[in-house]
Amino acid sequence: MSTPDPSTPDLSHVAPREKAEILAQALPYIRQFHGKTIVIKYGGNAMTDPALQQDFAEDVVLLKLVGLNPVVVHGGGPQIDEALTRVGKKGQFIQGMRVTDEETMEVVEWVLAGQVQQDIVGLINAAGGKAVGLTGRDGGMIRARKLKMVDRDDPEKLHDMGQVGEIESIDPSVVKALQDDQFIPVISPIGFGKENESYNINADLVAGKLAEVLRAEKLVLLTNIKGVLDKEGKLLTDLTAKRIDELFADGTISGGMMPKIASALDAAKNGVHAVHIIDGRVPHAMLLEILTDQAYGTMIRSH
Ligand code: ADP
Ligand code: MG
Repeated sequence: MSTPDPSTPDLSHVAPREKAEILAQALPYIRQFHGKTIVIKYGGNAMTDPALQQDFAEDVVLLKLVGLNPVVVHGGGPQIDEALTRVGKKGQFIQGMRVTDEETMEVVEWVLAGQVQQDIVGLINAAGGKAVGLTGRDGGMIRARKLKMVDRDDPEKLHDMGQVGEIESIDPSVVKALQDDQFIPVISPIGFGKENESYNINADLVAGKLAEVLRAEKLVLLTNIKGVLDKEGKLLTDLTAKRIDELFADGTISGGMMPKIASALDAAKNGVHAVHIIDGRVPHAMLLEILTDQAYGTMIRSH
């Protein structure tokens, strides 16, 4: 017998029959999603725990090995904050987006592409996958322009967000080429503009748009909360466009949840079949969501 991995929880109390049933439950999902693309937004806040990071990497590899095509887009909020603090700067946010001056952009680029992305690539490779890290510059993937951020309450007012970008277009050919060769793309949300300048783009927005252009079957946004919560803090398991409008209007959705829901809804409206916001703090949440009957977090529907 092989020595059990100390990071693997002890499942000896689970009856063999139950274990078999759980495994068998995955079959219809594996069949349904075989060969299909699943875009996963990972991180920032969902990736601060090393044990969870390893679970995540293993889940991605497992999905790939059973024939799905996972594509990872990562964030890096807490890691960027930490690096900014080290250089004596403080992050400033407007409507859930990070104001990005030139110096902050430098930090954003090296933290995202140099550190966070390479950490994820390393973990996936250690788990037996073949991950390749990319930024939006690679293969000319993400063209961007300066974001015009309109104030939520005063449509006349524009906020200067510095080098925060909005996506102009995504060319997914580099991602497709990697998928065809069985690689797992891990993408940092950095775009480039007309003058070859860099843009910091919210990772949820990149994940959503990428899911659309790849005609992905699923978009899974892993975050650091149970899902979308109502005013009383209760989980909303199902959301339609109409309900989302109401939640925006009465201020229930704020901060980083704003770009997340906007992106999720856009993807749902533009052909991504299933869009989920789930709790990345739950071990193997993504695997449970994709390969079992268990529903987690919030599902976003276009109507
Ligand atoms: P991530 O790194 O996963 O993108 P963010 O901090 O950007 O995380 O966005 C998730 C955060 O959005 C939650 O931790 C929560 O503080 C905030 N949030 C605001 N409104 C809501 C809401 N209605 N339901 C759930 N979370 C919300
Ligand atoms: Mg966020």
